[in-house]
Amino acid sequence: MTMIDDTAVAAGEGAAQPIFRLAGVTRTYTQKGRVVNALTGVDLEIAAGDFVAIQGPTGGGKSTLLQLLGALDRPSTGSILLDGTDIASASNVELGRLRAHELGFVFQGFNLIPTLTAHENVDMALEPLGLPAQERAARVGEALERVGLADRTDHRPGELSGGQQQRVAIARAIVKRPRVLLADEPTGNLDESMRDEILAVLEELNAEGLTLVVVTHDSAVAKRARRRLRLEKGVVRELTR
Ligand code: ADP
Ligand code: MG
Repeated sequence: MTMIDDTAVAAGEGAAQPIFRLAGVTRTYTQKGRVVNALTGVDLEIAAGDFVAIQGPTGGGKSTLLQLLGALDRPSTGSILLDGTDIASASNVELGRLRAHELGFVFQGFNLIPTLTAHENVDMALEPLGLPAQERAARVGEALERVGLADRTDHRPGELSGGQQQRVAIARAIVKRPRVLLADEPTGNLDESMRDEILAVLEELNAEGLTLVVVTHDSAVAKRARRRLRLEKGVVRELTR
C-alpha cells in the first residue's frame, strides 16, 4: 500500500479504497430462446471493509450480481474491477486464483459434504492453496474456533444444528483468508436464534476488516449492515449509506 492509500483509508469510511468497481454491468441469460435481462446496467462501488446488504424481490438479479462479484460468472457487458482486475476479461486461471484466495462464498443451503466432518469440509477450501499439512490443520482449527465450533470439529453436518452447519460453511469460506465474503441468503433456512448466531459471527468478521456483501430477505440482517442496496428488475438503488 502506498502513502496515498494509507492517507485515504485513515481519512475515514467514505474515503476507503473501493474493492469492487462496477461500470455498465449487464447480464443477459438466453434459455430456450427466451432472453432474460437479469442485470440491466449496474454502476456500483463497494468500499473495502464495508458491510453491504442487498435486498429486493425474487428474480430481481441479486444472485446474479453476487455470482459476478464472486468471479463465478462473467458479465455480458461492462466491467467489474476487483482490486484492479477486470472479472469480465481476466483469464479463467486468474478467476480461479481470485476465487481460491480472495473470495469466500456462503449459500442458503450451506452446501457442506454430508460424509465429511466439519474439519474436513473446511479443509477442502485450502486444497488449491498448496499449504503444508501442518499449517493447513492449524488454519482449519483457527477458522472453526472463530465461528465458535472448536468443540465440533469431528462432527458431520447431520450431527449439527442448522446454525452450526452454516457456521461451518462460514469457516470454510474464511479459512483461505479472503478479502471479501459474499453470502446469498445465509440465514434463509434458519430460525431467529440461529440467525442471530450467524449475524454475530458476520459482524465480528467485518469488525476485523473483512468486506461483507450479503443478499438477504431478512430485515433484521439488513438493519445491521452499514450500507443497504435494493436490486429490482436488474437495477440497483441505494437505500441507505
Ligand atoms: P434473485 O436472486 O434476485 O432472485 P436471480 O439473479 O436469481 O434473482 O435472477 C434474475 C433473473 O435471471 C430471473 O428472471 C431469473 O429467472 C433469471 N436467471 C437467473 N439465472 C438464470 C440462468 N442460469 N438461466 C436463465 N435465467 C436465469
Ligand atoms: Mg437469489
